[in-house]
Amino acid sequence: MIPAAFDYRRADGLDDVLAALATDAPVTLLAGGQSLLPLLKLRLAEVGTLLDIGRIPELHGVRVRDEGGIAIGATTTWNEILEDPLVAAHAPLLRQVVAGIGDVQVRNRGTIGGSVAHADPAADIVPALLALDATIALRSATSRRAGPADGFFRGPFETVRRSDELIVEIRIPALPAGAGGAWEAVSQPASGWSIAAAAAVLAVSDGRISHARVALGGAGECGVRAKAVEAALVDRPATPETLTAAASAATEGIAVQGDLHADAAYRTSVARVVVRRALEAARARAAG
Ligand SMILES: Cc1cc2nc3c(=O)[nH]c(=O)nc-3n(C[C@H](O)[C@H](O)[C@H](O)COP(=O)(O)OP(=O)(O)OC[C@H]3O[C@@H](n4cnc5c(N)ncnc54)[C@H](O)[C@@H]3O)c2cc1C
Repeated sequence: MIPAAFDYRRADGLDDVLAALATDAPVTLLAGGQSLLPLLKLRLAEVGTLLDIGRIPELHGVRVRDEGGIAIGATTTWNEILEDPLVAAHAPLLRQVVAGIGDVQVRNRGTIGGSVAHADPAADIVPALLALDATIALRSATSRRAGPADGFFRGPFETVRRSDELIVEIRIPALPAGAGGAWEAVSQPASGWSIAAAAAVLAVSDGRISHARVALGGAGECGVRAKAVEAALVDRPATPETLTAAASAATEGIAVQGDLHADAAYRTSVARVVVRRALEAARARAAG
């Protein structure tokens, strides 16, 4: 379908974007367009002006942070993340997730900041960011703030970002020494979107699990930490029995959603399977 008429403008720089967001004018940010343009074409959304933020150097690329870990600029595309040596060295889990997002065209255009802002309940990057203890950094014309990914996502397509704020970067801290991470998903065959997906990061010390982060995507109203699973892992022996028992709590405290592809009971069962597989793979990669 043809979208309703709108204006298009390429932003002159970061200050231009922040100034535009500070006004009452109906400005919508355009990053890779891989979520927004389908919405416009289906006329599920209408915009006044599309402000293209795709060519602002400060929002782009991957850097090492002085505090440790890496920061990924909001307009860095999936393919740039896949090819970046810093991501490969510091956050191999991200590469594993990003490699499975969409197809090559989607990965060439789609950006990490766009996916985080859009907050699709099945967005693959969200559980990975939760398991990696990522931080989302935001700027407005008058403020800067950064907060944990855990708490940023409030529901389907809803985050704590204010309308005058721009996501500027996503920060991934250094993992505990020897930690292993893994990603597992069961996808809807036609679209490739996850029915349920799990990201896990485990560290093991003296045969016991010393650090556990587990998160689910696709199952609930938004990506969410599986805190009951984490609680069933920490300080326990890093054995297959522990992992299997913990995975059975995958959806505890999570309102599992059903749709025409998978009802809530099936999604619950898939969630347990992907969590168990992710835990097993993360354990195999963790030292100790
Ligand atoms: C065919 C197809 C298959 C796909 N498959 C998958 C998949 O398997 N897994 C998956 O996770 N995703 C998938 N996607 C979605 C894809 O990952 C998109 O890249 C992502 O959802 C949005 O990123 P974008 O840069 O295109 O954002 P856009 O579409 O440009 O923007 C999305 C929203 O975020 C806002 N926004 C963008 N950047 C910022 C910012 N820096 N600060 C504040 N707000 C901002 C925009 O205003 C808009 O509201 C698929 C998309 C398509 C078209």
